[in-house]
This record gives sequence, C-alpha cells and structure tokens, in this order.
Amino acid sequence: MQLENCYWLTLKHIPRRLMRKPVPLSSVCMRFDIVTIFPGFFTSFFENGILRRALAEGLVTVDVHDLRAFTHDRHRTVDDRPFGGGEGMVLKPAPLAEALASLGIAPKAERLCQGTTSVVPQELQKEGGASAPEGMLAGDPAPSPRDRVILLSAQGRPFTQAMARELAALDRVVLLCGRYEGVDERINEIYCDMELSIGDYVLSGGELAAAVVVDAVMRLLPGALGNEASSEFESFGVADAEIDTDVVGVPRSQYGAGGLLDYPHYTRPAEFAGLRVPETLLNGDHHGIRLWRREQQLRKTLANRPDLLEHAALSKEDRKLLDAIRLETEKQGPGTRD
Ligand code: SAH
Repeated sequence: MQLENCYWLTLKHIPRRLMRKPVPLSSVCMRFDIVTIFPGFFTSFFENGILRRALAEGLVTVDVHDLRAFTHDRHRTVDDRPFGGGEGMVLKPAPLAEALASLGIAPKAERLCQGTTSVVPQELQKEGGASAPEGMLAGDPAPSPRDRVILLSAQGRPFTQAMARELAALDRVVLLCGRYEGVDERINEIYCDMELSIGDYVLSGGELAAAVVVDAVMRLLPGALGNEASSEFESFGVADAEIDTDVVGVPRSQYGAGGLLDYPHYTRPAEFAGLRVPETLLNGDHHGIRLWRREQQLRKTLANRPDLLEHAALSKEDRKLLDAIRLETEKQGPGTRD
C-alpha cells in the first residue's frame, strides 16, 4: 500500500476523469478510509449521484484499503478459525492492526495520551518529504484531531441521522468492514472508538454498512446537496429545541421535519393511473401547502414510526392534529392506515 497515494485524493476505484485535481489533506473537508477485503465493492458506489460530485469537487475523500495488502503469507490470509470452536471464521487481528498503522491510527490509549486520535504515518513524517503535508513536521500529530475509528458490526450502536450529523462534523472517519463471523475483538478493544450497526439484521459483511455511513454523512457536508437547507427539512431532520411548541397559529416547526418523517412528494403528471395529486398542492396557496405537508408528516410518523413522536418538536397545533388523526384512525377500526 503506497502511503503517498493515501495522502492525496487518490481513489483507486474512481476513474481519474472524475477528479478535478488532487486535494491536499489540510484543505479537505472530510476524509473517509475504508478497510475491507472487497475493495471492488465500492466501485460503482463512487461513480454515481451526490457522492460522485462531492468527490469530484473535493468536499470529501474516500480511500479504500485492501486488507489483503497487509498480509505476509503466500495465500494473503485474512481469517482464521475461532478460539473455543464454533461456526465460521474470524478476521485476524494482525492485518487489521497493520492496516490501521499504515493510516496513522495509533491504539486508542496512545491517541488519548497524545490528545489526538491519529498520528502522522511514519512515511509522512519525513521532514520536508515530498509527500509531507504543508506545515507538518516529523512526529507531529495528524492535523485533524476530530477523527473516529468505527467498526461496522451488528452488535454496534444503531446508526441514526443524529449520528450521521455528529460524524459529518469530524475531519476523518476510518471504517473497518468485518466479514465471516466478525473481527477479532482485540481490534475493537485496542483501536475502535465505536461499533456501529446499520440495523437489527445481520449482513454478510461490513461493506454495505460502510457505504450507508459514507452516503448518509457525505450528503450532510456543506455544499454536497444543491440546496443547503434540504437535509434539514427531510425525514429525521433536526428536532429543533428552539421551536416554541405553544405558539398558536402556524408554528415554526411547520417549516422543517422537526424530528418527524418527511411528507409525501408528487411530480408531474397531476393525474397518474387514475390518481390525482392532492388539490392543495396544485393551487399555489403556500400556507395551505405547509399545513397539508405538516399534517401528512404527522400521519406518516404516527402510522410508521410512532416512537419518533416522543422526541419530535411538536407545537400545540401539531398535538391537536395528532389527537384528531388518532380519533379518526380509531373510528375507522383496526387494520387501517393513513
Ligand atoms: N457474528 C456476527 C455477525 C457477523 S456478520 C453477529 O452475530 O453479530 C459479518 C460482518 O458483517 C460483521 O463483522 C460486520 O462488519 C458486518 N455486519 C453485519 N451486520 C451488520 C449490521 N447490521 N450493521 C453493520 N455491520 C454489519
């Protein structure tokens, strides 16, 4: 693994033409490193949509590292049988530790002592070396103390939009993808700041989970979405504590998701398969549209994710509306939805 290549925006799996120019680490908004035994998994993921644009514009860098590059045997072995017996194989600790060291990631204990979560890789510590970052001297801590090493794991804390927002404020996130029965637990103990699960189900590898995390975090970075406001006003948008829930009339929370699910969206044609777009959306009454959308958010959240209502920013009007919807649902009887 060429460390020089890791330092510059060099995505081994992204066509060169997608990148305008190399972006020096110091000016990069956010950096992801993904350690995996299937680097090819990410190829098409990088070539589409918002991520492709964010990469091309240097808002984010994603470097994929092949775990097998850190093995030393002829078969490039990354797994071994579990101690204590049982099904499946376990990812060996040594290649993972070596991969992390090559990324400048020290054990947690050392990072805490240094007051930083990463150190400059040996190869980058050469004073005045060709690849040394601007202003960085030998032995300096890495320039971004806001780093996290994350193990993707079904046993992890649930990944949520709130967590995506937390990660989007960091400089660097290193994602370790497990396979087989998982990763030798000592890697978690020694290096990982947290274990993250993308849901209560078991995947065959951490790659999909890593892609989910990169996607959810990257789209929150300033400039990633065309409209800056759009990530606030969608499902799980900030439950704004500032919202005055006792305001009579149209509450401020009408204008954002406020911790609720998004409202339904429609586009042309106005009539499709015999179904017409709700009239309110066609008549240009913006106040009416906001009220309709808010009601739909409440309906959808009550039907699909009632647990979210506990922490949502709800106005007096919202609560009245919810009561009315509940009453209506009760009248309609069991088995009915919004
Ligand atoms: N024995 C484990 C499952 C291993 S699945 C268990 O019962 O918990 C193999 C790998 O897939 C894991 O190491 C992890 O990296 C990834 N993985 C599986 N499910 C996941 C989930 N819900 N979220 C994040 N990663 C997951």
